[in-house]
Amino acid sequence: MAPSPSRLFAEIATAEPPVETPVLMRRAVVLGGSMAGLMAARVLSDHAEEVLIIERDPSDVDAGPRPGVPQGSQVHALLPAGQVQLERWFPGIADEALALGAPPPPSDQGTAKVFVNGMLGLPPATTDTGPALITTRPFLEALVRRRTLAVDNIRLVYGRAEGLLFDERRVTGARYVPEGGTEPLVEAADLVVDAMGRSSRVSDWLAEHGWPRPPMQRMPIKLNYATALYKRDEKVSDAWVAVFHTMAGKGRTARIGGINSVEGDRWIMLVAGYDEDRPSRDVADFTARCREHYPQMFGDIAERGEMLGGVVTYHQADSRRRDFHKLDRLPAGLVAAGDAVASFNPVYGQGMTSATLHASCLSAYLRSGPKPHDEPARAYFDQVRVVVDAAWQISTTADIELPHVDGPYPPGYKVTKWFGDLLFRTSLTDPVLNARLGRVTTMLDHPATLSRPGTLLRALRLGLFGGSRR
Ligand SMILES: Cc1cc2nc3c(=O)[nH]c(=O)nc-3n(C[C@H](O)[C@H](O)[C@H](O)COP(=O)(O)OP(=O)(O)OC[C@H]3O[C@@H](n4cnc5c(N)ncnc54)[C@H](O)[C@@H]3O)c2cc1C
Repeated sequence: MAPSPSRLFAEIATAEPPVETPVLMRRAVVLGGSMAGLMAARVLSDHAEEVLIIERDPSDVDAGPRPGVPQGSQVHALLPAGQVQLERWFPGIADEALALGAPPPPSDQGTAKVFVNGMLGLPPATTDTGPALITTRPFLEALVRRRTLAVDNIRLVYGRAEGLLFDERRVTGARYVPEGGTEPLVEAADLVVDAMGRSSRVSDWLAEHGWPRPPMQRMPIKLNYATALYKRDEKVSDAWVAVFHTMAGKGRTARIGGINSVEGDRWIMLVAGYDEDRPSRDVADFTARCREHYPQMFGDIAERGEMLGGVVTYHQADSRRRDFHKLDRLPAGLVAAGDAVASFNPVYGQGMTSATLHASCLSAYLRSGPKPHDEPARAYFDQVRVVVDAAWQISTTADIELPHVDGPYPPGYKVTKWFGDLLFRTSLTDPVLNARLGRVTTMLDHPATLSRPGTLLRALRLGLFGGSRR
């Protein structure tokens, strides 16, 4: 019998270091050197004699946000499952982050505040994944890049990938224009990884060579982010981490907010809305929103804190997934990872963690001893599908409730929604359900674990009849 998605998910999300890593190929080429590409390169370094990353952004990327990752200035939270994977592939990375200036967690976990529909909920349940790694996105990415490039057989070149090379059955390499050059160069490869993010053109490149495009699903979320950095100052606020989520409902507008204490003794603060509710780059607008629509700590920081730089905005039109697993024809020698496969509403913080879990899928696939240059990587895409389905279910089941979103509705939506609402409501006050739901929303467990009888019955008992919380 095939293992269930939740069992497969547990294997993918494992913290166990990989063993038995056969070298299967001479050279792998990774297109895109951001979170997904770096993680894939690290995994491939165990299975290829040589790994080459081709990244479009110029060489001074450690300096901060960069054009190829325009979302990099916005608040980025790494979920616990992502932290587990980072530690699995780069042992000691969390300690290294702390040594380099990531803020150590305070002794009192209660300083992490969660506001749901305007009310203070239970703080996030503690997990056994170690202290949360809370940093800006460029800081974390730079750390992962340094650790990846410290591996002997990984090399990075700067240049813009422009196409794939094919023979009748497989991808044989990639073409790119090096930084500062005009003439394309060709790199032969036994395996090419598409890690070029949500705007990857690999579907076009497949189509140009007579291969089908992976079917794309979209959910039009129309999300509007605005973020600003502030100098951290205890006299202004004792905020460490705050998450604010108001769902659309009677008299309520859907809004999201967040405060993280990050490296450099700073706060990064986010306000976000949907559709026509668009925070602007105007500081007065940002401050007014913080004061009027968010808990006091947002207003205090906005009004009395020292802003560093300006307000940066970002609009994301949709959540999207490319279902490579549905293709009836797929060339050998090609895989895709990270946002190139699926990118979600960022308010759930799933993107970077998904990229690390895709790397885990790649490792499981390669450890099974396939011939990636000979056979399409179907077993890899089947595993990735488990991760994408899990993240997609969490984010789209919630987003479909937004007034401006009208589908696509998944099968069994009404029942899922009814139970999801019940579970969510009861988890706000019940520590056991809070912890179980928390393990799913932080991608440590598959959503199907929530339909186990113990959880179902507990939610029903508490939600319908009110009952003992023990
Ligand atoms: C506003 C916002 C907030 C977010 N917040 C969170 C969060 O809190 N937590 C979280 O986990 N995720 C968050 N995400 C999602 C996260 O940013 C992505 O999931 C993550 O960056 C995906 O990594 P990636 O490597 O797949 O793609 P990307 O990070 O998009 O990187 C793609 C890389 O490919 C390169 N590239 C593109 N084209 C080419 C080419 N032709 N040749 C060579 N290189 C190329 C780019 O330069 C870039 O380096 C957020 C996203 C947004 C939009």
